[in-house]
Amino acid sequence: MIYLDSNATTRIDPAVVDAMLPFLTEHHGNPSSGYRAGRLVKRALGEARAQVARLLNAEPDEITFTSCGTEAMHAVFEELRFDAPRGRRIISARSEHSAVIEPLLRWQRDGGEVVWLPVDSQGRVDLAALEAALDEGPAALVTLMWANNETGVTHPVDEIVRIARARGVPVHTDAVQAVGKLELDVRACPVDYLSLSGHKFHAPKGVGALFTRNGARMRPWLLGGGQESGKRSGTENVSGIVALGAAAEIAGRHMMDGGVDRVRRMRDEFERSLIERFPDAMVHGGEAERLPNTCSVCLPGLDAAGLLILLDQRGVCASAGSACHSAALHPSHVLEAMGFGAEHAASTLRFSFSRFNQEAEVEAALDALEQAVEKMRRERGRLAGGVVVG
Ligand code: PLP
Repeated sequence: MIYLDSNATTRIDPAVVDAMLPFLTEHHGNPSSGYRAGRLVKRALGEARAQVARLLNAEPDEITFTSCGTEAMHAVFEELRFDAPRGRRIISARSEHSAVIEPLLRWQRDGGEVVWLPVDSQGRVDLAALEAALDEGPAALVTLMWANNETGVTHPVDEIVRIARARGVPVHTDAVQAVGKLELDVRACPVDYLSLSGHKFHAPKGVGALFTRNGARMRPWLLGGGQESGKRSGTENVSGIVALGAAAEIAGRHMMDGGVDRVRRMRDEFERSLIERFPDAMVHGGEAERLPNTCSVCLPGLDAAGLLILLDQRGVCASAGSACHSAALHPSHVLEAMGFGAEHAASTLRFSFSRFNQEAEVEAALDALEQAVEKMRRERGRLAGGVVVG
């Protein structure tokens, strides 16, 4: 199998499995128990917290473990739902993930206001519009993602923070797709809240974290036994959290030792060769700052959903737009926000790499794509010629 869908989810690193396994087999103590078996597990949670904090240049007590990225974001919006001291306006963009868009739509239904900033055809957010929105009146929050899951286009979070902070407005960033692919430093780029998710950087599904800057407001969002410093009650997913810590440490090393550059070279070679084979292909966000692993491309006139099936038959996993949307056949809201129509979106495929890809897979995947396209065109020709198929 050639797996080119790492923005949907990643393969668990075998070293991460090794790190978490003892906490499934041997160390089953509850971290809240006072005896040795509990203390051992509690220590492991502390280590994982420090590992995640190091990856972000945060303090360990600024990290709260969650069940996923969505929950981390949910916590930020819950905080505002009940008490938004700076009013009821939130500033965001239409190209955000549904984990942000859906809570914001509820915010609107509940009487709050959302300013949806425009993005250009490259997926870049309009910073002048952000400034204008902030100057229009008080805002409770700016929430803009670090990197887009569909196109890989990144937002200039440091600029966004500078603009918002100058007006005293806190910033949340959905960094689910950025962690492990870009160097993130919450001291150099002082966001107030940052959400991340383990399964996007080689930890298992079902574990994530929220960074909350010390001093930033955050009310507890799960009440009960007082775990996670009282913010997020519920017995901890110990093995998942240990895995998250290990994945964070490995991601940090991977970025130091040029691993990200290798991924970028594979993606760039994939795009170069793809455009050579399909000269009318159009890469989304090709002129913008982008994640090093993501290629979102429109193959005009071809049906992406059909191509995905043909690719799957040839052992290649990719995605049409966002995986979260592939069950429902409405056009990608991200491409829509960038000004593309439904037909364009229906011809768009996303290929996303990780460090587990091999250089040889680049051409092999493109060979499979070429075969799939040829088959699709042949079938179409037969149908157009009036031949009954099947
Ligand atoms: N934000 C982005 C940009 C994502 O890509 C995803 C997952 O696809 C999420 C949020 C949701 O993360 P999780 O699946 O951990 O809830």
